[in-house]
Amino acid sequence: MKYTVLTLFPEIIDAFFALSILGKAVNRGVVEYQTVNIRDFAFDKHRTCDDAPYGGGPGMLMMPEPLGRALESVGVCPKEEKQTSGKKTVYLSPSGRPFTQAAAESLAAEQELVLLCGRYEGIDQRIIDRYIDDEISIGDYVLSSGETAAMAVIDATYRLAETAITPASLEEESFSGGLLEYPQYTRPEVYGMLAVPEILLSGHHENIRRWRLKKRVEKTFARRPDLIRRGIETGLFDGETRSILEEVWSKHERDPGD
Ligand code: SAM
Repeated sequence: MKYTVLTLFPEIIDAFFALSILGKAVNRGVVEYQTVNIRDFAFDKHRTCDDAPYGGGPGMLMMPEPLGRALESVGVCPKEEKQTSGKKTVYLSPSGRPFTQAAAESLAAEQELVLLCGRYEGIDQRIIDRYIDDEISIGDYVLSSGETAAMAVIDATYRLAETAITPASLEEESFSGGLLEYPQYTRPEVYGMLAVPEILLSGHHENIRRWRLKKRVEKTFARRPDLIRRGIETGLFDGETRSILEEVWSKHERDPGD
């Protein structure tokens, strides 16, 4: 998986790629990345990349020329040239489609993501029209810049795309199979008067698996009924999950406050 990040602050992204599991994945060569400083593509000696919006309004906008030149420097072609570069261009934007685990899975299947980080009040629309394949929002709130959003997209995708993470640890994570994760415990066995659920100490793998699945269903039902609804509508749940769901639903019908 390769990432190219266009930004006014490459230091933020470079630091992100240098550390922890992602840093190790880069060192092992399973993740490649480059940062491009958009300012290097400005025309004037002050390296100006922003200007006031036509029609008035608050704040400044990122100008199209430096952005277009930066994109073309990494092999992205304007759409009117109708060439395929094998790169998926993504602009991080509050107006983008919501970034979900399903969106992460589809982006993780790409060979290369070119991520464009906005600043100020955003970017000139013509850059989106000419170069961008996808607009992604990481949530219904406004950040001051796209770097945080780009890091969220990188983090959620590289771990799906590469062998940076043990595949087993992805299988039962939140959102996999349409459910949130079960509660987890580590040592000590008793902490602040709270003991680890006995079943986890039993060594009985099948009972532990079933207990965990039940916890996933209960937690998702209580916190994210939208995920349960989607799982039912799309036929995502297997027979075992559906039967646990029926139990949880009946319990809820008997005692809604529980
Ligand atoms: N004026 C813009 C608007 O109202 O939609 C907000 C611009 S924001 C201050 C600056 C940059 O932060 C954006 O260009 C975008 O790259 C990034 N950004 C802000 N919120 C975001 C979000 N929820 N998801 C993804 N990117 C975001």
